[in-house]
Amino acid sequence: MTARIIDGKAIAAEFRNECAVRVARLKEHGVVPGLAVVIVGEDPASKVYVRNKALACEAIGMHSEVHTLSADTTQAHLLKFIATLNADPDLHGILVQLPLPKQIDPRTVIGAIVPEKDVDGFHYHNVGALVAGDAAFYPCTPWGVMKMLEHEGIEVLGKHAVVVGRSNIVGKPMALMLLNAGATVTICHSKTRDLAAMTRQADILVAAVGKPRMIGGDAVKPGAVVIDVGINRLPDGKLAGDVDAASVAPVASRITPVPGGVGPMTIAMLLGNTVKSAERAAGLGSAAETRIA
Ligand code: NDP
Repeated sequence: MTARIIDGKAIAAEFRNECAVRVARLKEHGVVPGLAVVIVGEDPASKVYVRNKALACEAIGMHSEVHTLSADTTQAHLLKFIATLNADPDLHGILVQLPLPKQIDPRTVIGAIVPEKDVDGFHYHNVGALVAGDAAFYPCTPWGVMKMLEHEGIEVLGKHAVVVGRSNIVGKPMALMLLNAGATVTICHSKTRDLAAMTRQADILVAAVGKPRMIGGDAVKPGAVVIDVGINRLPDGKLAGDVDAASVAPVASRITPVPGGVGPMTIAMLLGNTVKSAERAAGLGSAAETRIA
């Protein structure tokens, strides 16, 4: 068996096109969805991410603004700034690019964004709603994985899903989304004993670790769906996932590539969340489309 590639780039493009249609419908109602991205300091990787987010917004007719604050910005100043963005009716999404400089507590800052504009899905209100299985803004990366599975017609209900990684932005919300969709979920992390024994049980295996090619074919059940969230820069400058595609592809039934798998879905979901927020603000949202299961 050779695993079929799940083309995240193509699925993300399709989703972005759907967003563009929704943006056009909003414009007919006099609403232009707006996203504000705040970046504090000069981290080069963050600047690239922020630029890509802004370009993706513009490509589908949304309004986006990038606010770059100096690295020595105080937390009080940032909180005040977020309050002005919260109050701006032309903005439907606010995102503060992480990491933040050490004088600023990210939890406090994320908590200052009104939950209705928290398109990253990191505010405790949205985290709590996800835990409860309610409608919310879901964190973009794991939400993108769910959309990929749905797009590919991969049944989650009743499956055993194993998530490797328990971060607040990927692993934990991923596990909750799979659980809400009816999977039996195992979460693994750096303290898990005999990781391969766990991952070999997975019908759906999600790797979100940050260790290049750490999951090999011997750790995968034949026929499993393997989702590789990892993005790791190798010494030669190339990107590698957490999954060793060469040894996993002959064993799995489906696999996401790196690059071109989960990565493109993340930005697409950010657009989706911002459009959803604008639809809600305009009274055009539907409760059904915001639910996971
Ligand atoms: P974190 O570093 O926050 O979390 C990594 C997780 O992996 C932790 O829970 C850690 O366990 C676990 N882990 C580390 N080593 C092992 C090990 N040997 N065995 C089992 N588990 C282990 O990373 P993120 O969740 O932020 O990101 C994970 C990966 O996904 C990275 O490569 C990142 O670049 C990528 N990423 C990709 C995105 C995309 O758009 N495709 C978006 C966001 C992230 P413990 O908790 O015990 O320390």
